[in-house]
Amino acid sequence: MLSALTSLHLPHHHHHLLHTFTSPFELKQLHAHLIKTNTPLSSLPLTRIAFACSLTPSFSYAHKLFHHLQNPEITAWNSCLKAFAEGENPADALLLFHQLHCFNVAPDHFTLSFVLKACTRLVDFNTGRVLHCFVEKLGFRSNLFLVNMILNLYALCGETWDARKMFDRMPQRDVVTWNIMMTLLVKRGDMEEAYGLFSGMKERNVRSWTLMISGFAQSGKPKEAVRVFLEMEEAGVRANEVTVGAVLSACADLGDLDLGRRVHEFSSRSGFRRNVWICNTLIEMYAKCGCLEDARRVFDGMKERTVVSWSAMISGLAMHGQAEEALRLFSDMIERGMEPNHVTFVGLLHACSHMGFVDKGREFFASMTADYGIVPKIEHYGCMVDLLSRAGLLHEAHELIMNMPIKPNGVVWGALLGGCKVHRNIELAEVATKHLAELDPLNDGYYVVLSNIYAEAQRWEDVTRVRRLMRDRGVKKTPGWSSITVDGVVHEFVAGDETHPQAEEIIQKWEKLLETMKMKGYVPNTSVVLLDMEEDEKEKFLNRHSEKLALVFGLIKTKPGTPIRIMKNLRVCEDCHAALKLVSEIADREIVVRDRNRFHCFKNGSCSCRDYW
Ligand code: ZN
Ligand code: ZN
Repeated sequence: MLSALTSLHLPHHHHHLLHTFTSPFELKQLHAHLIKTNTPLSSLPLTRIAFACSLTPSFSYAHKLFHHLQNPEITAWNSCLKAFAEGENPADALLLFHQLHCFNVAPDHFTLSFVLKACTRLVDFNTGRVLHCFVEKLGFRSNLFLVNMILNLYALCGETWDARKMFDRMPQRDVVTWNIMMTLLVKRGDMEEAYGLFSGMKERNVRSWTLMISGFAQSGKPKEAVRVFLEMEEAGVRANEVTVGAVLSACADLGDLDLGRRVHEFSSRSGFRRNVWICNTLIEMYAKCGCLEDARRVFDGMKERTVVSWSAMISGLAMHGQAEEALRLFSDMIERGMEPNHVTFVGLLHACSHMGFVDKGREFFASMTADYGIVPKIEHYGCMVDLLSRAGLLHEAHELIMNMPIKPNGVVWGALLGGCKVHRNIELAEVATKHLAELDPLNDGYYVVLSNIYAEAQRWEDVTRVRRLMRDRGVKKTPGWSSITVDGVVHEFVAGDETHPQAEEIIQKWEKLLETMKMKGYVPNTSVVLLDMEEDEKEKFLNRHSEKLALVFGLIKTKPGTPIRIMKNLRVCEDCHAALKLVSEIADREIVVRDRNRFHCFKNGSCSCRDYW
């Protein structure tokens, strides 16, 4: 640096440095030299000044420099503003902008765009409003680029009212304008309004479509997400990586394996194979659609994995009752120096509770805080209570609930109630139901469980009391439904539904199956039916459970040997579970059922859950 300074006295070196200085230090040296030699500062190239200034928090220096420049032109300001807006301290751009009026310099549209850029990076709403005034006053209202920047800033600051007002008054809008407004609405969770805007768009780009698809997917409306995706394909718009990730997560929620596979192929063809986020979503999609091997293939094929990839694979294994493999994968993950997060532990605890690994579960629960500093969330408590309750450690489970530092929710009490049913503990079942009734008074599930517990203990008066309670409180039974996809079409069956076009065929086929099943020792378990009706009516009702209807439809509609995949909104009842095991043997089919919280894979007369669910 010293040599650079001395070389300044040599004219050609001076000239050389004039165009190559890069640091604020060199700039200051040059500046000093120019003063000494009485050279006008304007001989310095402005973009270089801006670049050098942007490298350090050098606003005060830039400020001083501008005072020395004689009538700096707007382009000088702009280069410096641009450098500040893109540099480490965008706030310097705002400070410099406030100096503009001291010099009587009128900002042009570049000036405003650079300052707006700084505001956007700073999420500075107030300065944004000031700039909005400038845009109006200086006659840039028709400059869509600037106006969109302001709208985007309002949206980013969450100023919905201002954004909406501005949007409505805009004399012209382009696709960017609409996308900004939709992004804001989607972020606020207002999908209806966002979709309203989307429908009114004359021109849509891939970003507009993707916004809708991911908005629906994230707000628990996977069906809508898929519908918009199919429309997008029809419109001939090519999906990008964000679209692919969003539609895959919708497929995961819907269990739509066919579309999931198709999107996977498209993704590979489009070269998205290395996108870790897409791979993670693929693992989740395949696991949730019951194809654990495909999930594993994606996982094994990943060159780079994050904690999300490992957690997704562990949760997938847990869902399918492969606890040993889940635990093995976890050790593998730790060995590779990967730090687990709270989702990893939800997966591990799930695995333990589905397979009854009580000690392992307790160990993980203690270790997550002790070794990894992760404070258990409600999901972890839910898993632990579930683990203990299933294993019959009901008092320990109850104690854990009473000592929880957070308010137990319906999942936690529901887990205890489930354990009480299996292990026939009426006293704790009543405690759990009391809490559940307070948390979610219109849900029927736990009343059903409680009255089943009474029925099994032959306490008929209590059964009647619970039913009366249900009726008085206006509790409605959640209808059970199951769906099955045949040739890309989703068929839904509601319990007791005889309106399906093929209902007669289904019932006939079921009657035939039933004969064979009864020969193999099947006895309908009518205790799961809670309605006041005669025994044979109950049996008929049982035969119309939605998963049975979907299963028979699948047997009729698919080729022998094809695995049958069914999605169910509620837990599979004991009777259906027993029936499905038998059918898998009689019809020689693999039957995969995804119920509310896990998978059952029925094959050769037994289920992957080993009857522990
Ligand atoms: Zn059933
Ligand atoms: Zn099972």
